[in-house]
Amino acid sequence: MERKEFRELTSVEDARELVDTIRVRPGTTILPIEEAAGHILAEDILSGVDVPAFNRSVKDGYAIRAKDSYHASEPQPQELKCIGAIPAGCKDSFFVDDGETIEISTGAPIPGGADAVIMVESTKQTDDSVLIYQPVHIGENIMKAGSDIMKGERILRKNTRMGSREIGVLASIGMDKVPVKRLMVGIISTGSELIKPGEELDISKIYDANSYAIAAAIEECGGTPKIYGIVPDEEELMEETLNRAIEECNIVLTSGSTSAGAGDIMYMIIEKKGETLTHGIAIKPGKPVVIGMIDGTPTIGLPGNPTSALSIFNEFVAPIIYNSLGMKPSFKTKITAVMGTGIRSGGREELFPVGVVRGKVYPADKTSGAITTLSDADGMIEIRAHTEYIEAGSEVEVTMFGNVRSPDLMLVGGQCPGVDLLEEMTGLMFRTLNMGSSAGFTAMSGGTADIACVNMIDAEGNYNSSILKRMNLEDVVLVKGYRREQGIIFKPENHVYGFEDIVNLQMINRNRGSGTRTLLDRELGILAEARGVSKSELIKGLKGYNSGSKTHRSVCDAVRSGKADIGFGIRAAAEEAGLEFIPVAEDDFDFVIRKDLLEIKEVQMFLDALRSGEFSERLPEGMHTYELTGSIISSF
Ligand code: AMP
Ligand code: MG
Repeated sequence: MERKEFRELTSVEDARELVDTIRVRPGTTILPIEEAAGHILAEDILSGVDVPAFNRSVKDGYAIRAKDSYHASEPQPQELKCIGAIPAGCKDSFFVDDGETIEISTGAPIPGGADAVIMVESTKQTDDSVLIYQPVHIGENIMKAGSDIMKGERILRKNTRMGSREIGVLASIGMDKVPVKRLMVGIISTGSELIKPGEELDISKIYDANSYAIAAAIEECGGTPKIYGIVPDEEELMEETLNRAIEECNIVLTSGSTSAGAGDIMYMIIEKKGETLTHGIAIKPGKPVVIGMIDGTPTIGLPGNPTSALSIFNEFVAPIIYNSLGMKPSFKTKITAVMGTGIRSGGREELFPVGVVRGKVYPADKTSGAITTLSDADGMIEIRAHTEYIEAGSEVEVTMFGNVRSPDLMLVGGQCPGVDLLEEMTGLMFRTLNMGSSAGFTAMSGGTADIACVNMIDAEGNYNSSILKRMNLEDVVLVKGYRREQGIIFKPENHVYGFEDIVNLQMINRNRGSGTRTLLDRELGILAEARGVSKSELIKGLKGYNSGSKTHRSVCDAVRSGKADIGFGIRAAAEEAGLEFIPVAEDDFDFVIRKDLLEIKEVQMFLDALRSGEFSERLPEGMHTYELTGSIISSF
């Protein structure tokens, strides 16, 4: 097969039009009502019975002839002879004559002769008679047979999605099975690097996320997913599985192998076996999508990246499923929000993933100074062609992904279990981007974070303040946090006696821009001096110095798995991972907060928690508050 250049990208609008023309014919299946939730009714449902099936009482009271109560009043009650009692579910037949009554329970059948029920509160029972204190009219407190649902009545329409209410209605007319549409959607995940969740993770392998995410998304749309599993990047195997899926399903989705890279052959297979309708849509993320038709079966190659795959599914596959099932167009939640930063776009129509924090919208696309990673995106905004820049402060409409709760506070900077504790204590939802202190400062200057979590030491040994000055950050305050023991982390079975051992062992370093890495550099400077060598010379000899793990946790993972012998980080992380720790220094973990947010509820809660005794007590070992914790030490 010949490799092909990536074609001209299709505009989002054209792609939507194309998708709108694609319909498939679902089958029908009968499901027990216990399993029907989420499915789409294949037929109108007519009731085979009256509901209720008999005249029944809606109150606890006495069945009477209404006319026997007409002269009753508080001062002059009417006395009736009580001739029995009818509990709910009672099958015996009774008859009430003039001047008589029968005690009756809610839901019990009305006896012959009676035409009203007086509620128990308006009566008083003596030995074998009942005093009636109020008149009732004919039919009072009686639910007539068929008054809820009449036999033959259409109670549910075809194409209705079955929810709790619908299932309740079916049960109430005695149906235990229901005809629903079955739209089979096959899912094939391609990639020789994929393994099934639950299996042991091997080097160079990643778990197949798409099969399961897409299956859930198909169910959310009322379709029936069929997972074909993982197929390695081999043409023959892919074709074989595709053949099977096309045979068995109404729609076939593949993921991965859609771009024009080496080994990406899905679009060629679709082209060879059928017709390519489009390849490449001007949408971020995930433009390498291919929509084709093989033997009348829509076959869609989704991108491999899980977030891209899901967003393409939502935009271009969900409508096919909805339309084919005859359902109303999707019920997406749209909100109006304000851009928190400007977004530059390519000047063409795009769907742009965004994070939404307290009504502010931030790009979630790495290429545009992302502050939210893709997997953290809350929704998408649509950027029209010819829009090159959307300014901060302008209103945009965001199509939210499902029922996501959008976070209350946006934190960028270093990772720390202390921040997790603050989140737990406030009950707020934080979006934390652990990218190191420098990223925190940058996000503050770009206005894309509410709070930066920073532990950056300067040449004089002071934390954070001078960096804020140097960066000319305005309208922010520095709030002192807490102190953390930092040191070397290693496996118990490795013999490490002190910081100096770092020169002999394979190390895992933190990412550039992390405060912890800066602290390590400082310690290395001191060590170099003690040894009478230059710092750069010392560093040159360190194995693994140029690595860059983003969090303390990932450093510990590397040490635990044996990828590295030694790492540098906080005690809490080492202990959590069951690793040994030798302290080397203590750092200040502080918070930079936007001034205009100091008064908002969420930030107040954050500060209250930070200043509380409970926080101090619950901080993990190796971290402690001190006299400055929670105080605003400088304002910029
Ligand atoms: P591809 O489109 O095949 O080039 O894949 C793009 C990226 O997504 C690669 O990093 C793949 O490893 C990853 N990927 C592909 N399929 C899956 C999947 N089913 N689950 C998780 N990641 C995937
Ligand atoms: Mg692949």
